[in-house]
Amino acid sequence: MKDYKEAHRIWYQKVGKAREAEARVKIKIETLTHYGNGKLTCSHCDESRLACLSLDHINGNGCKERDKLKRWGYRFYLMLKKQGWPEGFQTLCMNCQFVKAVTDRVKQREIPS
Ligand SMILES: [Zn+2]
Repeated sequence: MKDYKEAHRIWYQKVGKAREAEARVKIKIETLTHYGNGKLTCSHCDESRLACLSLDHINGNGCKERDKLKRWGYRFYLMLKKQGWPEGFQTLCMNCQFVKAVTDRVKQREIPS
């Protein structure tokens, strides 16, 4: 049993780790392409560099929802795929995410509570 565990550990370091990283990138691309209306680009501008793209909760509260579900990153993407790509998300670049966050904060200040 010890030999098996050691062999698995070595295999994981050489092969398994790379396969996992590949699978994570694959589901990220699939998710961001789906929520980018079939294109791997930001829904608001033409940014297409994968490192700049992220998933946006259209109505906000993304952090609270992910904390509630206890799923972040690729696990959250896998959950969305399993659920048949529910609505309420869009692909945005980090610049457009930032602009949206600032705009939302300004709107909240303008509307008296
Ligand atoms: Zn953008």
